[in-house]
Amino acid sequence: MLSTQILAPGQLEMRQVERPRALPGEVIVKVEAALTCGTDLKTYRRGHPKFPFPFALGHEYSGIVVEGTPEFPEGSAVMGVHSAPCLECRNCRRGLQNLCSTIVERMALGAFSEYYRVPQLVVQQNLFLRPAHVSPQRAAFLEPLACVVQGQAQIPLSEDDTVVVMGCGTIGLLHICLARLRGARRILVTGRHAQRLALAREMGATHTIDVDQQDPIEAVRELTNGLGAELVIECVGRPEAWQEASRHAGQGGFVLLFGGCPSGTTASFDTTHLHYDQITLKGVFHFTPADVKQAHHYLCETDLPVEKILSGSAPLLELPKIISALDQGQGIKYCILPEAK
Ligand SMILES: [Zn+2]
Ligand SMILES: [Zn+2]
Repeated sequence: MLSTQILAPGQLEMRQVERPRALPGEVIVKVEAALTCGTDLKTYRRGHPKFPFPFALGHEYSGIVVEGTPEFPEGSAVMGVHSAPCLECRNCRRGLQNLCSTIVERMALGAFSEYYRVPQLVVQQNLFLRPAHVSPQRAAFLEPLACVVQGQAQIPLSEDDTVVVMGCGTIGLLHICLARLRGARRILVTGRHAQRLALAREMGATHTIDVDQQDPIEAVRELTNGLGAELVIECVGRPEAWQEASRHAGQGGFVLLFGGCPSGTTASFDTTHLHYDQITLKGVFHFTPADVKQAHHYLCETDLPVEKILSGSAPLLELPKIISALDQGQGIKYCILPEAK
């Protein structure tokens, strides 16, 4: 089968490899749709700390079962994620299954392929049937949406709050539409590029601030009558953005630091503001099976407009072209359709 291998930073190759075969409890899926993700781009640029070269790429998928289990028989349409907790380690037993001590090393990559192997723990916890009214493209949003659900589960969102979302890539846009769905009436978004900001408004932002035109700190102050926001969701992943996020928060404010920064970086914060204004800063990582279930519900039972995020679609062979387009800042997220020619 055709698959994608990353050989070294910036070196992506399409290769013929042996089709995976299911071990007991596993499922083999014929991929219908696989989405590009910010993590794929990061991995393309700098490799992955947990995976030695060469390795396969892609982890947001939906497809048709070709080797199944009683619960997911051959022929069923499924949607899933690429990891699941062990349920045995200390963090799992503390209820922090997103921080399971082996979850990262067991992540199953390789969704940019004709066939994808779903590990047993994922089959048991994080694989779902895809209802017919949900398109394969929409279903493939399960993983990024689960991350966003985990993030928003941390924040005390109330309808009257002003929410600031920093960044309008996939994650920022998903946070906007989920906050909207959860009832937030006032969502201010900071970002760049007119097209992306327009998309942010389409997805539910009530105000957008172009950081190339306006000082975002001043703009947020103005839009909150000098008080600052109750909730800030940082989706940029740079230390300067983490610092800026804390400055958008008003008294009693809550800051979700969602974007992962390059390893080894540090950020600093105004202690007076954090202390006297009682600011909460919270980091967040990955998702639990409960988040995946909730994301499945949002995709299947609500009209959360996730498809709007897609910049286009392409056959599998064109993946290297798509990744280098993303590398040059063209588009946000693409859908790879292995069956398309
Ligand atoms: Zn992803
Ligand atoms: Zn565990």
